[in-house]
Amino acid sequence: MRSMLFTRFNLLIIFNLMTIINSSLAQTKIEGISYLTKKPVSVEIKDGKIVGIHQLEKLSDNSRQLYIAPGLIDNQVNGFAGISFCFAGGQLTKEGIVKATQELWKKGVTTYLPTLTTNTKEVMLRNLSLLAATKNEPALHGSIAGYHLEGPYISPVDGYRGAHPIKYVRKPDLSEFNQFYEASGRNILTITLAPELEGAMDFIRKCTEMGVVVAIGHHNANKEVVDLAVTNGARITTHLGNGCANTINRHLNPLWPQLANDKLMASIICDGFHLRDEEIAVFYKVKGPDNTIITSDVTSFASLPPGEYKNEEGETIELTKEGMLRLPAQNVLYGSASPISRGVARIMKITGCSLGDAIRMSSTNPAKLYGLNDRGEIKKGMRADLILFEIGESELQIKKTYIEGNLVYKTGE
Ligand SMILES: [Zn+2]
Repeated sequence: MRSMLFTRFNLLIIFNLMTIINSSLAQTKIEGISYLTKKPVSVEIKDGKIVGIHQLEKLSDNSRQLYIAPGLIDNQVNGFAGISFCFAGGQLTKEGIVKATQELWKKGVTTYLPTLTTNTKEVMLRNLSLLAATKNEPALHGSIAGYHLEGPYISPVDGYRGAHPIKYVRKPDLSEFNQFYEASGRNILTITLAPELEGAMDFIRKCTEMGVVVAIGHHNANKEVVDLAVTNGARITTHLGNGCANTINRHLNPLWPQLANDKLMASIICDGFHLRDEEIAVFYKVKGPDNTIITSDVTSFASLPPGEYKNEEGETIELTKEGMLRLPAQNVLYGSASPISRGVARIMKITGCSLGDAIRMSSTNPAKLYGLNDRGEIKKGMRADLILFEIGESELQIKKTYIEGNLVYKTGE
């Protein structure tokens, strides 16, 4: 009897010790100034998820007043840090995908949609297959939520087409799209297309039925077509104000109907080059913080030194010292070189919106749009994807990035 009690007692001690060890390994607390309330908080994390948010009198380390917010979610990443998700030539590798992801963490992006632009079917299939095979690598910590196809079903007209190569632009083709969808592991979350193209409305309906979020962009659709696209399921306009010709009719152009339709969200690029500040101010006034998404449209040339580079087509791409990326031969922008963290700081400055609203537009809204219900907010049960930062003059200064509670980036300072 005595020995049985002793054994039970011992087992109890061992069990308790194990619980303490386990919880100390899996449980952490991260402090910061709440992006919503501007008050100090402690976010309690267990097994990669948020289990509690506690108000504090003051931070433990009061010398460093860093904001805490959910990690940024970028819905349009063509590439980053020398890695392109669009190019052919076998340039995209697993190692490259991991590298681009790790570089994005330094900018506070904890979730993103690798974006494939207009190219041949073969290149798009190959890159989607490689992305699908890499998506669940432990080294990525689930940062890739799915993919964005920007094209190839966009306007062939100069100006509206932007920098997409005309030779690969084509009409919506559902059977081709299904091949892309399968190659992606059924993880294409969104597609940007021109709604005025032949067959587009049927295509929009079918994609919507499949659960793919349809975006309209690189188009010259009139009011009737924009409204019909929305009726058929289109949810958002991609980089409003860009993918549009420089010279347009002041009454009849694609901007007014997209602004006028309240059911259409808008993504906007706030890098300082794609839109003028007054355009951002107006788009924000019309769409508001619930229906705006800050996107980057960032490319492989982002975070490279200024200079001249060659793209896949052998064309010269110029990255100016101010950070503008352009295709001089056609006098069009060639995507962006600025991460979303710049857009967050800039939209606050331009519109006077709160940090809470800026984070809503760069994390909460994209999470909701793409059905990523486990991220985009600091809330019980969500993934502990968190950033600690200061608000710089034109960019968030990211100090620490956590994904599922793991510290994946910390500044050297
Ligand atoms: Zn575009």
